[in-house]
Amino acid sequence: MSSQRVPYLTAKLQGFGTTIFAEMSALAISTGSVNLGQGFPDTDGPREVLDAAKSAIDGGLNQYPPGPGIPVLRQAIAHHQRRFWGLDYDPDSEVLVTAGCTEAIAACMIALCDTGDEVVVLEPTYDSYQATIAMAGAVPKFVTLRPPLYELDLDALRRAITPKTRLMLINTPHNPTGKVLTRAELEGIARLANEHDLVVVADEVYEHLVFDGLEHVSIATLPGMRERTLVLSSGGKTFNTTGWKIGWICGPAALVTAARTAKQFLTYVSGGPFQAGIAVGLGLPDAYYEELASDLQTKRDRICAGLTEAGFEVYRPSGTYFVTVDIRPLRPDGDGMAFCRQLPELCGVVGIPNVVFYDNKAEGRHLVRFAFCKRHEVIDDAVARLKGLGR
Ligand code: GLN
Repeated sequence: MSSQRVPYLTAKLQGFGTTIFAEMSALAISTGSVNLGQGFPDTDGPREVLDAAKSAIDGGLNQYPPGPGIPVLRQAIAHHQRRFWGLDYDPDSEVLVTAGCTEAIAACMIALCDTGDEVVVLEPTYDSYQATIAMAGAVPKFVTLRPPLYELDLDALRRAITPKTRLMLINTPHNPTGKVLTRAELEGIARLANEHDLVVVADEVYEHLVFDGLEHVSIATLPGMRERTLVLSSGGKTFNTTGWKIGWICGPAALVTAARTAKQFLTYVSGGPFQAGIAVGLGLPDAYYEELASDLQTKRDRICAGLTEAGFEVYRPSGTYFVTVDIRPLRPDGDGMAFCRQLPELCGVVGIPNVVFYDNKAEGRHLVRFAFCKRHEVIDDAVARLKGLGR
């Protein structure tokens, strides 16, 4: 959030400015820096997935796909939910394809929140959460996760719930921290959701990017939760296709219908041929998913070691493709925003200042996020440049 007033923009969207990802990617291009800011992989995803989208174009899948998504993708999503998490969804009434998870989040907030409703979110908060809560006229209530382990404080969560709370918007594995919520933490959230009759919107886009043998738990699998949870995910992170913007929502028919009502007036539909590609990806064998996670785990280890050697305090992530560091050992004033703006000039690297993900700025001021979904040589190059900082 920036404090600069944007002319014409409504009061409720003042402060959102330009997303940090656009700002930092533009800075990376203009300075020729190594971009460890915006999270996108620098290698292509599986050949079969890319080929399936190309064949779909050649096969004439170029007009509006059906509103809820092409049937073969909805079936593949339902099958994926059963195969990996043991969740059963009817592909016709309980699965909705969206323009990436970002649209899914927006549709859920706009469809489910009335003006003044409160939404409980985990802080740091992925930037679109706050913006879409604002678009819905709702009010965010933050529960802060703190390093080094980013444990969820269930008492703080309980205190954040009021009679105005409409829903909880959670994210696991969590961007930007890389925290994977434990089963016990999710059980705590589920208990409160059941007790207060709340809907949970669970952003699980990093569901397959979990390390060290930890388990990803979908909150919809916990007692009483399937009926009150919308599970959101997308193909971008799992198949290295972040530009395709194919996401989805799974949940009980009544909640999915509500989300669809909003979604149809946001993009109507999107990405017909890409939907066909993602359907093929979701059917890839277990070995694909295992290799995806183990490859990223190797990269996680490589960047964590390098950042530690460069002098940062490193908070090793258990999931996602992001690592957060405390910059204060290298920059005692702890101004992460200034640091990220100067970093391209100082050493030719771009990162994301985590302060943008915080409402309570003091909590995130000194934290910076680096993306490690990059080739080994790119990680090594960035680390070598960062090591120059301390000299
Ligand atoms: N999810 C990506 C990240 O956190 C960015 C997506 C975007 O640019 N909106 O880096």
